[in-house]
Amino acid sequence: MRFIQSPNHSERTRPVSIVVLHYTETPTLERAVRILTDPALPHPVSSHYVVGLDGEVVQLVPEDRRARHAGVSFWRGETDVNSASVGIEIVNAGPGRANSQPAYPDAQVAAVRDLCRGIMERHAITDVVGHSDVAPTRKVDPGAAFPWRRLAAEGVGLWTDRFESGDATDADLLASIGYDVSDPAAALRAFRLHFYPEAILAGGTHTHERLVAVERLFRERRGRQ
Ligand SMILES: [Zn+2]
Repeated sequence: MRFIQSPNHSERTRPVSIVVLHYTETPTLERAVRILTDPALPHPVSSHYVVGLDGEVVQLVPEDRRARHAGVSFWRGETDVNSASVGIEIVNAGPGRANSQPAYPDAQVAAVRDLCRGIMERHAITDVVGHSDVAPTRKVDPGAAFPWRRLAAEGVGLWTDRFESGDATDADLLASIGYDVSDPAAALRAFRLHFYPEAILAGGTHTHERLVAVERLFRERRGRQ
């Protein structure tokens, strides 16, 4: 792993409890590194790691420092998500104007998986989420093309293909998982993007039932911690 120090970091004021995944919206690792290490942008940004299309990992900020990747965000009551997380930028051009996001290559997904496993082990944590999950009104990365199902099968993050019935409201279920529900429609959109992409890509209509199943999964996982 290469280490290229980004100057864009500060003191961490929370223990690490979350991994936040992003796409870079830039087509190359070099360009992403340049942006994430630039101190002269109006709003300087950084992440702890950036992962190239071929799986090359570059570390930019040590894990004990606070990187600047999440912006105004929320997860499980935490509003300083940057202080509470490790941020990983993944090189991907994003959906662009044509709204067709390129797939994440296998080697890149494997590198993200290994990186996440290490972080989860070092900090004894299980919550691996997308930028869209922690900033549902502002962000859609890492996007509908991100292989959350595969990663969960390989030990990173949670996934279920189940649909279950239940009486709780969507907003209560979303809040229990960790979402900011001050804009309920945005939170529901972010949930679909991560846990029920068929709803976006293929018109699936059982969001509530998927939500019940996913919320139970989170509750059970956390109960074991
Ligand atoms: Zn992002």
